[in-house]
Amino acid sequence: MAKKEKVWFSDANATCWTEALPCKAKDLFYEAKFDEIIEKDDEVAIKIHVGEWNRTRVLRPELVAAIVEEVKAAGGRPFVCDTTTVPYHAYNSRVTGSLELESAYRHGFTPDALGCPLVIADGFSGDDDVRVEVPEGVILKEAYVAAALVHADAMINLAHAKGHPITSYGGGIKCIGIGGQSKRGKFHEHLAHWGEPQDAIGWPLSNPDECHGVKCDFHQQCMDGCHRNAITINEKGFHRDTAACRLCYSCQVTCIFTGHLSQGFTPDYFPYAQMAMSDAALGVLKTFEGGKVGHMAYAIDIDPNCDCIPWATLPLCPDLGVYASYDVVAMDSCILDDIDNAPVAPGGANDAFEGSDYKVGEDKFKITQSTPPRYQLTAGVANGMGTMDYEKVVWEPPITRVHSAKWQIRRDPAALILRRMWTKRDYLKEAEPFAKIPFADKPVIPDWLPQDGKTKALEGMPVVTASMHKSKGVGRELSAPGHPKDFAK
Ligand code: SF4
Ligand code: SF4
Repeated sequence: MAKKEKVWFSDANATCWTEALPCKAKDLFYEAKFDEIIEKDDEVAIKIHVGEWNRTRVLRPELVAAIVEEVKAAGGRPFVCDTTTVPYHAYNSRVTGSLELESAYRHGFTPDALGCPLVIADGFSGDDDVRVEVPEGVILKEAYVAAALVHADAMINLAHAKGHPITSYGGGIKCIGIGGQSKRGKFHEHLAHWGEPQDAIGWPLSNPDECHGVKCDFHQQCMDGCHRNAITINEKGFHRDTAACRLCYSCQVTCIFTGHLSQGFTPDYFPYAQMAMSDAALGVLKTFEGGKVGHMAYAIDIDPNCDCIPWATLPLCPDLGVYASYDVVAMDSCILDDIDNAPVAPGGANDAFEGSDYKVGEDKFKITQSTPPRYQLTAGVANGMGTMDYEKVVWEPPITRVHSAKWQIRRDPAALILRRMWTKRDYLKEAEPFAKIPFADKPVIPDWLPQDGKTKALEGMPVVTASMHKSKGVGRELSAPGHPKDFAK
């Protein structure tokens, strides 16, 4: 029987210090022994997706900083990185290194917040790359890998798990399979020149008869959004110079997202795009020595669409947690299974579930994205990148005094700072007694009057109960919810 790859997981729920998500991510870093892949002074790339301008469901800086801190603790020299993009849409905010830095800083990914430099891995214009041969590739036989990844000694591939309009799902494979490629690497895996134009797989699907020509409000955006100047729109409608087009998606996005029907994708395109992405991801991994890459992902804010979309919609399902593995295919397999097994969240793109006979456990992205997401996994198995057989190792942090203190800003209670400060000047005592009315004259509020040992106000208040603490022996035992004596302990 094939070996199962371990995928460490800790959930997004938290009831005390040790269960905060950054703390759990740090725990997983050590549970997976990622500190051991880092040697002293290794240049360690932490690959993230910085997200588009106006995108709000992206990773938060502190979730990345948590890993930066442990890479440093392991002796490495971390840098956080992402790559420039092709103009996926007319207002893309990451087509150059400077625009991408502006976008990243707006999301809070500053060197101050991260605790290390932020690097655009393929350079200012996205042409700093290294060609890597991928003879094992299912579709691609080469990849153009961002130079900063090639030159790094080790990598933590730190993904945000969510959906994607082209690849259905975007997690660990996509974070390097698209996000680790230079501009020409991205164009290459977009498959524009794969097949003849009439095949309509590697080319935008065009319905010129549906174009409203210059009467369309967006016709100028359609033309100006094309970096190859390959589009002409006149009274007769839309014309694409297929020899010039490199499949950046911009005209398709303008047409689709403005509710028009002239430009689109053939459904056959999407599975092949996933396969190409897995081949390109393998290209990135081939630039590292064995055992020098760890994969992690935060499955929170699970938007049906990717961080490359310049808006966010309502999440597909509740937050799941953080994952870690040495095998990116295994990690993404586990995340996808967990997403499918989670309840559907209401609203947004999830209206697609209404009226369908979807049952929890079935493929969610197939419903919201129209294409099943696991082609990228099977391609990743076929090209030898990894396995879909995983063993999920669930991590529950111990709730002890030592572990509570472990990942705090300082390990001693911060009250000790105040205790010391106030030996010099007793700030509280200076003001005491505080001015207030005598207790006997306190205001009488009818709802707050004691009623058989309870008050109406307290009855409505949420109470932490023992059942909310999933770990045994945690904290104090509490009695039934809502009983005022809980507050007296
Ligand atoms: S958005 Fe669509 S309909 Fe409008 S001009 Fe462009 S291709 Fe034509
Ligand atoms: S014609 Fe091709 S290159 Fe131009 S915007 Fe459309 S997809 Fe991009």
